[in-house]
Amino acid sequence: MSEITETIFSRIIRREIPADIVYEDDLALAFKDVNPQAPVHILVIPKEPIAKLADAESKDHALMGHLLLTAKRVAQQAGLENGYRVVINTGLDGGQTVYHLHLHILGGRHMKWPPG
Ligand code: AMP
Repeated sequence: MSEITETIFSRIIRREIPADIVYEDDLALAFKDVNPQAPVHILVIPKEPIAKLADAESKDHALMGHLLLTAKRVAQQAGLENGYRVVINTGLDGGQTVYHLHLHILGGRHMKWPPG
């Protein structure tokens, strides 16, 4: 998978393609995963197109914290009071397919460990 800055998620941010958006602020966007792996499966992305976690830098410190707190907020909003899992797939071995950093929020069922 090539690591280009422009991905389908940039097009979702610009509202060029539809998505089921559940949260938005100046820095982040959250929308339902089109191919859900759990009853609740939401993606949280930065509006700034950082390709992957391994590319995040010291200057992104506050943004990274904001994404985690956004995941918490969105999970709360989705009613996941029994818990949930937050996943960041990173690079080829991490199973990343879209090269725009995203946090998966998975919930609504009991998660297994380890993931595949
Ligand atoms: P990853 O494999 O961690 O890179 O995850 C990419 C995720 O993006 C997958 O779970 C896909 O189902 C999801 N996805 C791809 N295209 C879209 C889209 N247009 N709208 C919502 N989710 C998408």
